[in-house]
Amino acid sequence: MNIILFGPPGAGKGTQAKLLQDEFNIPHLSTGNIFRSAIKNETPLGVKVKSILDNGELVPDETVVELVADELKKEKYKDGYILDGFPRTVAQAEAFDSFLEENNDSLDAFIYLSVPEEELVKRILSRGEGRSDDTKEKVKTRLEVYRNETKPVMDFYADQNKVQEIDGLGSIEEIFGRIKSALK
Ligand code: ADP
Repeated sequence: MNIILFGPPGAGKGTQAKLLQDEFNIPHLSTGNIFRSAIKNETPLGVKVKSILDNGELVPDETVVELVADELKKEKYKDGYILDGFPRTVAQAEAFDSFLEENNDSLDAFIYLSVPEEELVKRILSRGEGRSDDTKEKVKTRLEVYRNETKPVMDFYADQNKVQEIDGLGSIEEIFGRIKSALK
């Protein structure tokens, strides 16, 4: 099963992706986690993307697409995966579509976690993970980038009748329950 978990920053994608990973036994691929780990380990990729993440901007499409395509070729993803943080632009969605086609594969579900903007800001500023992009100013940038660059990705999948909107307000368990029902 191939799933895209989509939604604004702070919607709870990472939390729900982990639960889905355990429930369905398919790996969770978070581009944000890969970038943060590369930055921490000061790899060439990390050096390249550090200031981009710090500023709440987007890593160039080519870099992300190449990274995801390389990653998804690994054996552990052969029975499916949960994508979190990708695709984040229409160009990435188009590239991912081609990738699926080349591999005779397809997308099973596009889950949109919907959360109002005031709640997102509250959640991010109180989560205390110490992320350099979790400051008030950077959150504003990230939400702007989401509205302008990322939200249009939904129209792309709506055209394929794939979008399932899930109310992202409530307890972690409640939201997980809604996602599981949507996947049935
Ligand atoms: P959040 O959704 O909470 O903002 P993520 O961990 O998904 O956090 O992403 C953190 C940062 O990593 C983004 O602000 C961006 O700089 C970079 N990033 C992650 N995924 C992508 C992507 N698909 N395309 C471009 N940049 C990305």
